[in-house]
Order: sequence, then structure tokens, then C-alpha cells
Amino acid sequence: MPLIITEETPPPGYERLIFAEDSSSGLQAYICLHSTVCGPAAGGCRMWAYDSREAAREDVLRLARGMTAKNVMAGLGLGGGKSVIIGNAREDKTPAMLRAFGRVVDALEGQYYTAEDVGFSPEDIRIVAEETDFAVGLEGGEHGSGDPSPFTAEGVFQCLKVGAQDVFGSDDLTGRRVLVQGLGHVGMSLAEKLYAAGASLIVSDINQAALDLARDQLRADICPVDQVFDAQMDIFAPCALGGILTHDSAQKLSARLVCGAANNQLAEDSVAETLSARGIRYLPDYVVNAGGIISVAGEIHKAGEAYRQARLKEVATRIAEILETSKRTGQSTTRVADQIVGDILDRARGHQQEGAA
Ligand code: NAD
Repeated sequence: MPLIITEETPPPGYERLIFAEDSSSGLQAYICLHSTVCGPAAGGCRMWAYDSREAAREDVLRLARGMTAKNVMAGLGLGGGKSVIIGNAREDKTPAMLRAFGRVVDALEGQYYTAEDVGFSPEDIRIVAEETDFAVGLEGGEHGSGDPSPFTAEGVFQCLKVGAQDVFGSDDLTGRRVLVQGLGHVGMSLAEKLYAAGASLIVSDINQAALDLARDQLRADICPVDQVFDAQMDIFAPCALGGILTHDSAQKLSARLVCGAANNQLAEDSVAETLSARGIRYLPDYVVNAGGIISVAGEIHKAGEAYRQARLKEVATRIAEILETSKRTGQSTTRVADQIVGDILDRARGHQQEGAA
């Protein structure tokens, strides 16, 4: 049976949602275009063993919307989109499946650029790119951007220093207790930067090898995964999972600053108010973790290293502006950031309508 691409009706506020099925390779994937108002949608592909097709649909919708906020805020001339492949990345992924996915991306004719996300490596993207020009995050080549994680980690680190200045009156991290949750591609790189800056590290992960490395090389204390919110810390850097900040965990958190790479850290938007009421500064995830998509945008726009570095510097400047507005208006940092994104989208829609008139 050939590749079947079905157009589903997306929820209000979304542009397109497609489901693709290829029985010969076993591909089952969603691609969601949340917004292309500011440019073609860009966002990685996640491969995950979802319990159901509905769960995959929910995830792709949530992730695509987040990419719009991230890309628009970073001023990359890109909109928001995301894709998910249903399956276990270690057991089910095959080159044939990746090529079939590449053909689906290609069928969108440049409305969507895909890249790495959870369960997807640069080698996977290389295979996808055999079928489409709209796969980025490639290693090598004239514009290849490779692993985005070091850029993400650098952006988070710079924002964390801005946050420290705001909360503690100094960006000197010497002796500050920072808990890094998740020592993966981003978390380990961030932990190394924090260690070099003199921070006193606490780390938490389910991966013992990563914990051993951080303990031996970065003199980190280890915190069991279920005791993160009981630990004493100055700064919390979530770099593992989304949804870890609930009303309950926000009530227990001892940190005065939250700045990390994980996407969708707040289990629900209103947790921002709980953090704010407790005097905890939360730096919105989609602002601070934009380094990776900035790196990828450099590849999409065929821009050089100077573009990436300039855009990366703007991440910390932007977070400083958001903190400033939050203090001036009394609004939470998430509300301020969401408002900026909403205003940019409204302006872009206005320009589109003027152009069409
Ligand atoms: P990764 O998969 O390399 O690392 C995740 C780490 O979290 C792993 O070491 C894993 O063992 C650990 N982990 C899993 N469950 C845990 C738990 N319960 N407690 C503690 N640790 C746990 O992922 P990554 O690329 O480092 O990304 C980390 C987060 O940042 C993700 O939420 C990702 O979506 C987000 N993010 C990453 C990038 C990037 O450039 N890689 C960009 C933007 C956002």
C-alpha cells in the first residue's frame, strides 16, 4: 500500500494537521503546522512510543504551538510546527521509515522544516534528507548545523546569569547551589559551564553513568529523582522532562530562580502565578531554550556562524527585557512573554492582510 497522507481538521488557531501512514515501513506520523504567519514552520521530529494515536495527536499539537512561540520570540523569520512518529525509537526505527517520513515532509513543499528532537539523531535526519530538502540539523556540508544542544546550553547559561543578577543582585555564580535535572545533551553541557563558573552543583538523572561523570568531574552532589523538590538550592535548572512544575512542586521548590532547557516546564500556565506569588523568578522555557532552533535557523536561512552568534546573544538580552517588564507591570514573566509573542503574530497577520488587500 502506498504512503497515505490524511488531512485532519486541526483545532481552532492551528493551520494544518496531517496524519501519514506507510504500511510497508510501518510509519505512523503526525505533522502539525501551528502557524506560518511569520515564515515556514520549523520544529523537530520526536519519535516516541505513544500509548495511542490520540496521545500522539495531543503531543504534536502542544509541541507545534510551543514552536510558534519560540520561533516568533527569537525573531527567526520562522513559524511553528512539529512532527511526531509513533514508535519506539530504539526498536522500531528503520531507514525505510525515515525515508517515508522524508517524503511526507517533502509533500508539504517547504511549509515545514523538520530537525532532531527526542528519539531523533543527526544520522536519522541525514536519512530523512535523502527524500527532502526540508530536513535540517545536518552534520557537515556548507551550512550544516549539527547538534543544536551546545547552542541551547549556552543560551540557557547566559539567561541563568541574567536571572541571577536579577534575583541575587549579582551574576557571579560562585558557590550558588544549582540543581540540574537531566544530564543529557543539554543538561551535561550546562552543568559543565556552571561548574566552570564556580557553581556548586546538585544533579539528578535516571542515568547512573551521567551521574557518575558529574560527580567525578564536576564535584556534583547527587539528588534522587523523587527528591528534587525537597533539595535545598538557589537555582533550579530543569533539563529533562516537561510538566515538572505543578502547583504542588512549585509550593515545595526552595530555589529562587528557575532557568532550564526543558520544553513546557509548567504543567499548566497558572503555575507561573504560584511561582511568582512565592517570589520565585521563572524564566520562560521557550525564551531561554531557543539556542537550538537558532542554530537550525542558521541552516535554513543558509546564514553563517555570525548569524548564529548574534541571535544567540539576543536570547539573554530578551530575557533581561522580559524581567524588566515583569517587574514594572507586576505581571508574571510568562504573561509578559506570551504577550510579546501575541503582539508579533498580530502585527504579522496585519501585514499579511494588507498585502492581500
Ligand atoms: P536528552 O534526551 O539528551 O536528555 C534528557 C536527560 O534527562 C537524559 O539524561 C535522561 O536520562 C534524563 N531524564 C529522563 N527522565 C528523568 C527524570 N525523571 N529525572 C531526571 N532526569 C531524567 O535531551 P536533551 O536534548 O538534553 O533535552 C533536554 C530537554 O531540553 C528536553 O525537554 C528537550 O525537549 C529540551 N530542549 C532541548 C533542546 C536541544 O537543543 N537539545 C532544545 C530545546 C529544548
